[in-house]
Amino acid sequence: MQKLIITAAVTGSIPKKSKTPHVPTTPQEIADCALRCEEAGASILHIHVRDQQEKPSDDPALFAQVMDKLKGRTRLILQVSTGGRAGTDMESRTRRLQTDPEMASLTTGSVNFPNSVYANPPDLIQALAKEMLRFHIKPEMEVFDLAMIENALRLEREGLTPAPLHFNFVMGLPGAMPAKVEHLVHCRSCIPSDATWTVSGIGPAQLSMGVHAILMGGHVRVGLEDNIYFKKGELATNERLVQRMVHVSRTLGRETASPDEARDILGLGEKNRT
Ligand code: MG
Repeated sequence: MQKLIITAAVTGSIPKKSKTPHVPTTPQEIADCALRCEEAGASILHIHVRDQQEKPSDDPALFAQVMDKLKGRTRLILQVSTGGRAGTDMESRTRRLQTDPEMASLTTGSVNFPNSVYANPPDLIQALAKEMLRFHIKPEMEVFDLAMIENALRLEREGLTPAPLHFNFVMGLPGAMPAKVEHLVHCRSCIPSDATWTVSGIGPAQLSMGVHAILMGGHVRVGLEDNIYFKKGELATNERLVQRMVHVSRTLGRETASPDEARDILGLGEKNRT
């Protein structure tokens, strides 16, 4: 079985310091937290940025600051979110790709969140895919339901995303697929055999879906973006969530991938090789 790739999604759009003091929100905090997560065993950093009021931001300068603070200090694969809670127009979603990350998330459909629509219309998805192709950025297809797998496969057929594809199954978010192992098995059966996949279980499902993914040969995303608790009533830190997944994986007989091993598994190009 491939070594396990652990993604640290340390910030996200939602948790604020009033909810958990452990969420990093400034570029310096995000970079420092990323290094702790790398030390703990993560190989990908999924990046969101916030403004000074901790609101999700689409400012490419903030993304660039995070990356500058990490330059020369980390081997982590940097993956920029192109998620839309910080803005839905094409310009604000694509500009951050000019910071030249190795990877970026690409949600291949729209979702009803409890109080809003996470809108990803076809032309925006295509535009993001084209920009990623142009900058040699590997997309992580963020999949909230089965139709989004089909939409991602269509991008591949249309030549907008080179194979092998990499998927992230987001499970347990209201409006997305429920976090059930049957759904995870079905998702895996819907993707090409050369594709790689990870799972983002939301809330308490982060641990349970992560364990299933470890056993099924997939990869795992952890972090406060998706889950702020270590267990019921006990707040987590990002690095502790990474450490736990490393421990669980090794206990189950699966070693974890270094960032460069993760680059090999994901077929990343030469962009950030030593
Ligand atoms: Mg995200």
